[in-house]
Amino acid sequence: MDFGEDTLEVGGLTLTGATRGGIATSLRVPEFGLLFDVGVPMAGQLRHSRILVSHGHQDHLGGLPYLLSQRHLARQKPADVHVPVEIVDPLGRIFDAWAEIEDFRMEMRLHGHQPGDVVPVRKGLEAVALRSDHRVPSLAWVVRRVTRRLKPEYAGLEGPQIHAMRKDGVEVTEAHVEPLLCVTGDTRIELFDREPLVRQSKVLVHEVTSWDDRRDVEHTRQWGHTHVDELLERLDRFEGEALVLVHRSARHSRAQAEQVVAERFPASMRDKVHVFGH
Ligand SMILES: [Zn+2]
Repeated sequence: MDFGEDTLEVGGLTLTGATRGGIATSLRVPEFGLLFDVGVPMAGQLRHSRILVSHGHQDHLGGLPYLLSQRHLARQKPADVHVPVEIVDPLGRIFDAWAEIEDFRMEMRLHGHQPGDVVPVRKGLEAVALRSDHRVPSLAWVVRRVTRRLKPEYAGLEGPQIHAMRKDGVEVTEAHVEPLLCVTGDTRIELFDREPLVRQSKVLVHEVTSWDDRRDVEHTRQWGHTHVDELLERLDRFEGEALVLVHRSARHSRAQAEQVVAERFPASMRDKVHVFGH
């Protein structure tokens, strides 16, 4: 089956995978070693052992049991699977049932998360969970780089002076946080309105399920999704470098979405906007 797989290099990152509304979503970002959602099995997924899940709808998570069994066959270590805390118990029951059917238990490290939770990715890189706004418990994920920088008030000091202050127990540095990537998962536009981290992310992968009025704003909202009209109204609030639009419903071709971008998005924004998925 063709899930419209695509690859986009943007903002120093490679986004690769597929994301079509109601069909399948799974996106890999090799630079971070992260996999976002596992709607279906897809090439390359085995390379990443940390999986950040937005919500439990099958087109985002239905491929997880198969992926975990493939990891076992390849003798890989158990994956770390990060999910909304609300689905930990039902997922446990699903995996209990698989264990009974297969007479074998697939190993994974399942982590349930609430909004605000932080997942360490590697030194200086972490993912934070935000509450997105869908029909079931859901999380958006922001990957951010955290570095320590000298506090501005100490900027003029020489090395030995800073060293002496450190010795005296003075905290001379402060955290500097850069949101590099946000993957919204399925959400209404409220996430964008509510969360500065989303709007500030260097690369924002935002869902736009509806691209015309075959399903209008109200109808799109009922299903917990975003209509292109809603994003258009707020484009000037996006502070990042690239806006990657994903999760197009099967009603819309890539060509149609690109035409909407060309005709309706302001010229000043068009270079930043990417339609993802074939
Ligand atoms: Zn969904």
